[in-house]
Amino acid sequence: MNDSADTDREVPVIIPRPEHNISRANISKNALKVLYRLKDAGYQSFIVGGGVRDLLLGREPKDFDIATDAHPEEVRRLFRNCRLIGRRFRLAHVHFGRDIIEVATFRAAPIDQVGDDHDHATSEEGRILRDNIYGGIDDDVWRRDFTANGLYYNVADFSIWDYVGGVEDVRNGVMRLIGEPAARYREDPVRMLRAVRFAAKLGFRIETATEAPLFELGELLRDVPAARLFDECLKLFLSGHALQSFEMLRHYDMFRHLFPSADGELEGLDGETVRTLVLNSLENTDRRVAEGKTVTPTFLFAVFLWGSVSRLAAKLRDAGDAPMQAMLEAADTVLRNQQSHVSIPRRYGVPLKDIMALQVRFKNQHGRRALRVLEHPSFRAAYDFMRLRALSGEESAENVEFWTQLQEMDPEHRRSKVEPVRGRRRKRRRPRRKKPNA
Ligand code: ATP
Ligand code: MG
Repeated sequence: MNDSADTDREVPVIIPRPEHNISRANISKNALKVLYRLKDAGYQSFIVGGGVRDLLLGREPKDFDIATDAHPEEVRRLFRNCRLIGRRFRLAHVHFGRDIIEVATFRAAPIDQVGDDHDHATSEEGRILRDNIYGGIDDDVWRRDFTANGLYYNVADFSIWDYVGGVEDVRNGVMRLIGEPAARYREDPVRMLRAVRFAAKLGFRIETATEAPLFELGELLRDVPAARLFDECLKLFLSGHALQSFEMLRHYDMFRHLFPSADGELEGLDGETVRTLVLNSLENTDRRVAEGKTVTPTFLFAVFLWGSVSRLAAKLRDAGDAPMQAMLEAADTVLRNQQSHVSIPRRYGVPLKDIMALQVRFKNQHGRRALRVLEHPSFRAAYDFMRLRALSGEESAENVEFWTQLQEMDPEHRRSKVEPVRGRRRKRRRPRRKKPNA
């Protein structure tokens, strides 16, 4: 493995400090502390990846990843507040209170089949680390995905090291895979989602050769663990560029490999209604992120799965199920089928079913049951969801109005709004008693 690497080392283009805009003022104090400590101990010390890219773009990086030639054990010896994680590829986490700076040793080994994410990198217990797992910066760079993500900022002289033409691509707003695109996607299909994500987030164009396989290779996403796809979906849809991500995933026909039932609904007879709900919701999500409000995977999945759930629930009602029973069973089935594509952890799945069940309970505007709906922990989310459904014409404006008013009313007066008429209540009971074999 890796035997050719020593014979034709490539040299980077080095962009000196006066020729770029990255200033230490925009790098976090903790990241700088780590960078300098490594450098002062005689190691190479770089910021790599999204941090460099975002600084070049004048954006605020989400975090700063550090790359070094110090081995993980050596990194640990330098920092008191340091923990090593991962088994095969060990990463150092330097803790500053809640802030964690990740330090990775340059890698030479090819990445795991399952991807690059250390959480998923596994090896048998006690496996001996081979020498060639770690390498130099000129091994490390070729394992990175896009040229824009393959830039290194050197703290020794504040220059940028560019092996891949990344600076120019960043300046031109281009996402370009390093190496042969189809092969790189096959190595790790999540890179297809990353291409879309960065293009959506940064407003970049996907370069032609990098783009072409996206139309063809979506199928490969089926082999990616559903939990890893869940993580990736959070980044696609809950970081402020959901609408654009969705449109691009549909454009490349990748969405159906993530949410097959939702994709089917979008293509079906009620496609326009489903699409309106999805687009309004994603727009709403993006607005919330922009305003610094919270967003949850529960709501996102509810939006994507609602079309199939409500269709199946209608079918079950036609077959004789009571509305609530039909809804719960439909939600259960659709959620279960979704798990093998993009899985939803239970802590989000349970409130998702509540949101769906509450859509049924919203139909009832009478009595104590209606009042109890207001106290449900998922009321607010379910109410927002109903409003979005009303926008796509699925729910009546009157019903939305009723729940809006009830909520805003002073609790003393709510009773009068929902109190049932006595006569009516009795009438409703009688036929129920007569029902045979209920
Ligand atoms: P973000 O702003 O979302 O954090 P990022 O570019 O920093 O963007 P990360 O997922 O944090 O993305 O990964 C850090 C770096 O690790 C990337 O910039 C890239 O160089 C490399 N990397 C991450 N995932 C992969 C992958 N699947 N294949 C190859 N390289 C990857
Ligand atoms: Mg990052």
